[in-house]
Amino acid sequence: MPDTHGQTIHVLDPATVNQIAAGEVVERPASVVKELVENAIDAGARTIRIDLTSVQGGISGIRVTDDGCGMSAADAELAFAPHATSKIAALDDLFRIRTLGFRGEALASIAAVAKVTLITKPRESAAVAGTRLVVTGGVLKERQETGAPEGTSVVVEELFFNTPARKKFQKNLNTELARIHGILEGLCLAHPQVSFRFYHNNREQLVTDRTAQPLDTIARIFGNECARELIPVSADLPFMRISGFVSRPSLSRRDHDRILVSINDRYVSTPSVTAAVKDGYGTLLSRDRFPVAFLFLAIDTRLVDVNVHPAKKEVRLSKEKEIGEAVRDAVHAALSKFDLIPEVVVPHPQNRELAGAENTVALTPPGVAEPALPYGSGAAGLPATAVPASGAPVPALFIEPTHTGTVSTDHRLRQTELASGVPPVTAVMPALEVIGQVGGIYILAAAADGELIIIDQHAAHERIFYEQVSRSMAGRHVQELLVPVIIHRPPKEVAILRDLIPVLAQEGVMIEEFGTGSFLVRAVPAVMGKIEGPEMIDDLVGDLLGGDPARPVSDRERITRIIACRGAIKAGTVCTHEQCQRIVDQLRSTQNPFTCPHGRPTMVRFSRAKLDEMFRRT
Ligand code: ADP
Ligand code: MG
Repeated sequence: MPDTHGQTIHVLDPATVNQIAAGEVVERPASVVKELVENAIDAGARTIRIDLTSVQGGISGIRVTDDGCGMSAADAELAFAPHATSKIAALDDLFRIRTLGFRGEALASIAAVAKVTLITKPRESAAVAGTRLVVTGGVLKERQETGAPEGTSVVVEELFFNTPARKKFQKNLNTELARIHGILEGLCLAHPQVSFRFYHNNREQLVTDRTAQPLDTIARIFGNECARELIPVSADLPFMRISGFVSRPSLSRRDHDRILVSINDRYVSTPSVTAAVKDGYGTLLSRDRFPVAFLFLAIDTRLVDVNVHPAKKEVRLSKEKEIGEAVRDAVHAALSKFDLIPEVVVPHPQNRELAGAENTVALTPPGVAEPALPYGSGAAGLPATAVPASGAPVPALFIEPTHTGTVSTDHRLRQTELASGVPPVTAVMPALEVIGQVGGIYILAAAADGELIIIDQHAAHERIFYEQVSRSMAGRHVQELLVPVIIHRPPKEVAILRDLIPVLAQEGVMIEEFGTGSFLVRAVPAVMGKIEGPEMIDDLVGDLLGGDPARPVSDRERITRIIACRGAIKAGTVCTHEQCQRIVDQLRSTQNPFTCPHGRPTMVRFSRAKLDEMFRRT
């Protein structure tokens, strides 16, 4: 509102400025924990203890105690001044930051909105006594000498006592605890050299030991089950070193919350890196499943701008594209070195939640009600051919394949026979000897050392087909239809289909527009074999127009997957022993034999040890 001089604009007083700044750094109790623990890490602490107290559903106290370098009396007082830091001195330093803090805002901001008691004593100094300071609402209330161990302890109470609006948002204790857990997990993982001890109302919440092996910390926090499913990743580039772990595809999640990335020891959220990790899995995971990953990136500090977020939750990366590509390639390379056939987990009745959790293949022992979980939740988007339609007859156990059936399967298998003389690209899938086929769907096979492998014949053939089509060895050959097929599409799809015409042509599907809402299909890829009728083409186009807009893959990729799915031997097709063996052998010469192009597994294994356990031979 204009004053008597007609002025509307005025400079805010320092107290207001501090409160505004505090709002950015200290949004909530979890941010206090983060800032204090980061300070302790920067102080070179070997052990950090976090004590949280809560009363009546609200956090009443936060204490962080460290055995780091401590502060002199003079420094301790200065630490509370806004923009007071020991970590940088000049602008240039911003580009070689190795500490977690550098803005000099945290202590000042926290003290602006709470009562802070700081007790500190410098390490290896002549001082006999330590310093105790109490700062409330930004005002120094007490200062005295005190007996204290080396290191620093900060107690924060009455948080947001002078900012009621913020206090109101701190209602849900459990949400806040979950956030604090999340922050501490990130800090623990990025700093395995520090032992963390986190207690809530004196109850132990999270305790890690000092270790040189990040995998120990991972196992401690996320459990041995998780650690066992991880495979190491590493790569050295001129501007970056990548190390860490990613999960076998058999361990995946619905969200990407467990893709944890630290950049120069700072745990940050970087969507581009998270996406790159997922991309590294290619078709090993379906679109809606995400891996578990713990990656440590050491990037040239000149490429990392840490000063873009007040709470330093994000960083800005120069060379973001190169960094993403390097991460993707490193993840991909790590995965291609391992035999990824998921092992079937047979849960003991007493700990079934564990086995059903995440995405291992759970098998319910006979006598225990509740059906086995399907592999993950990949059921969405399942191609219609992968499961017999409800009520469709499942072939009886020992049906002989019909003559025409055998001929048509032979034809399909010939389409996907890889050129002779091509050595298996991957040696990671074991050689398998087919035992037989069950229900027209699954192929049973034996591997060396007494393993039983069960293969999903449709998924397997889909994988083989997919790799053939993507290599374009097959996709280029088209077969003209004797009678072109006419398909009709509603107006909203016409434009989309029109756009797809050139891409489809590249893949061997020749379509042209033919009057309003009608299209003429003249040719399809030769690999699709005998076309069963217009519905098949109509379905193909329907699939293409479907797609998930949330996570789009390229049109070409989509077309390839659909052609592979439509062209592959269906579940329910009775195959001869020899045909089963050909599927298995062809699968073995694919680049990625372990999943179908949608990320579902092509096979699962019962190891010899697991079989022995099931028959109580151990
Ligand atoms: P920043 O961490 O960005 O420098 P802070 O406000 O968090 O800013 O801390 C200000 C200064 O106080 C730090 O630079 C550091 O010198 C000192 N300090 C804070 N916490 C500790 C601690 N736990 N041990 C030793 N020194 C500390
Ligand atoms: Mg700090």
